Amino acid sequence: MSMAITKETAVLVVGAGIMGAGIAQIAAQAGHTVFLFDTKDHAAAEAKAKLATTLEGLVSKGKLDASAAEQAIARIQPLSELAKASSAGLVVEAIIENLDVKRGLFRQLEILLGKEAILATNTSSISVTAIANGLQYPERLVGMHFFNPVPLMKLVEVVSGLQTQPAVAEAIFELSKAWGKVPVYARSTPGFIVNRIARPYYAENLALLHEQSVQPYVLDACLRAVGFRMGPCELMDLIGLDTNYSVTRSVYEANFFDKRYVPSAVQRDLVDGGLFGRKSGQGFYDYREAAVKPEIAHFTPATMPAANKVQVQGNCAVAQYLVDALTTAKVNFTHLPESAWTGLSLDEAELRLTDGRPASQLGKELAVFDLPVSKQQGQPLAFAVSNRASTELAEYAATWLRFLGFNPQLMADSPALIVARTLAMLINEAADAVQQGVCSAAGADAAMKLGVNYPAGPFEWLAGWDAGKIVQLLDHLDAFYRGERYRVSPWLRHKAWQEAA
Ligand code: NAD
Repeated sequence: MSMAITKETAVLVVGAGIMGAGIAQIAAQAGHTVFLFDTKDHAAAEAKAKLATTLEGLVSKGKLDASAAEQAIARIQPLSELAKASSAGLVVEAIIENLDVKRGLFRQLEILLGKEAILATNTSSISVTAIANGLQYPERLVGMHFFNPVPLMKLVEVVSGLQTQPAVAEAIFELSKAWGKVPVYARSTPGFIVNRIARPYYAENLALLHEQSVQPYVLDACLRAVGFRMGPCELMDLIGLDTNYSVTRSVYEANFFDKRYVPSAVQRDLVDGGLFGRKSGQGFYDYREAAVKPEIAHFTPATMPAANKVQVQGNCAVAQYLVDALTTAKVNFTHLPESAWTGLSLDEAELRLTDGRPASQLGKELAVFDLPVSKQQGQPLAFAVSNRASTELAEYAATWLRFLGFNPQLMADSPALIVARTLAMLINEAADAVQQGVCSAAGADAAMKLGVNYPAGPFEWLAGWDAGKIVQLLDHLDAFYRGERYRVSPWLRHKAWQEAA
């Protein structure tokens, strides 16, 4: 059968809530007749009226042609009963997130619609394979996972279940492009691409908070320095702690309680206490009137601290940054590119780039600093000192970091600090997703940049780092915590061997 979906194909959108209304809007703007149905009385008509206001707003801002808006609105037909949609060639379902209800709906739709109709679900967490179970033609059901707000977010995950016919996924892929979206293929597995790969962004930082290693505003500042629009804590506050917790739990449960995805007691406590973030007025931060959001101190440059002998160790990009900074500052130093570690030797003290081992494990007069990702002057950068260091070392290390152009943030001596730990785990999760056939590396990068606005994709970070060093860092985390959480993805380990050869 021919699978192409054209402008002439009528689209049935079931569920006229946040997502359904957005999907109806873009389908109508793309030229389709759109039937909109919701079990709640008047919901479809109200959604249409609201869309009309939205589109008129765009017209008055000069962002949309008046006749285009009028035509799009005219194409949306709210229905009082599903039976009136029998001519639809495509259904996009955006109803309540419940397996039995979704299954029931699709079974009903199968009877109503032609055999050729494609059935798409916008589920964000339910298995597409499971929704298709019991259908007469399960091969025509596919996931079409949009992101909120639908008209603005470019990403669509095109999710195939075990029985989804490739031509059906391809038709939805092409349609998404025609609707101005960037589709990415995904295999139906817990969290699909984005909601899975993003887990460590929350989990690793919640783990640091659980250990009392650092304050939320410091975590947030350090990750914003990487280019994330929001740090993990402010992002969880925005998403809603309850919503984020429920996605985490669903991925954890769907993975047979794999320790990798274990939810955090820190988050559970906030949820139990009704501290949902912005929407409730309090979460990691206080949003009530007169509350002041804590911020890290501004960057202040420093002059060179005393040191008779300055050596740069290592030859990676960070070592090169140190070489360049010292050269620019006209410091007398030697460079030992063959060194097994990266950082600075400063008389009796060492300032090392984290390799995943805490400073206390590595030496006495020793500090470790986090992975600097940007080259921006004054970027916040976490560091930690050995539990046997002299009382002066923290200040000495901080002054060196300021002299080198960083805004140092002292934290507890946690393995892999903040940025290195978070990025390594994001890369590891993405590597596992590719290993398990969930998506391609390019698909993962596109999905994370478009679905959650990451400044780069995990495989782009990998390309700018070093697979061997990431594996080593994760192995050190694994050795420190001794659990399943930091196990290295087979894909990443193989990549490291390949690069070392
Ligand atoms: P919503 O609560 O805003 O809207 C759901 C609508 O479906 C409601 O109007 C409800 O009356 C209607 N409904 C419920 N059962 C129905 C049925 N059997 N038949 C017809 N209508 C029914 O929810 P939403 O946020 O738009 O989410 C809808 C779906 O999209 C869910 O599967 C959700 O997981 C998924 N999703 C949500 C987001 C998001 O950020 N909100 C993002 C991606 C995917």
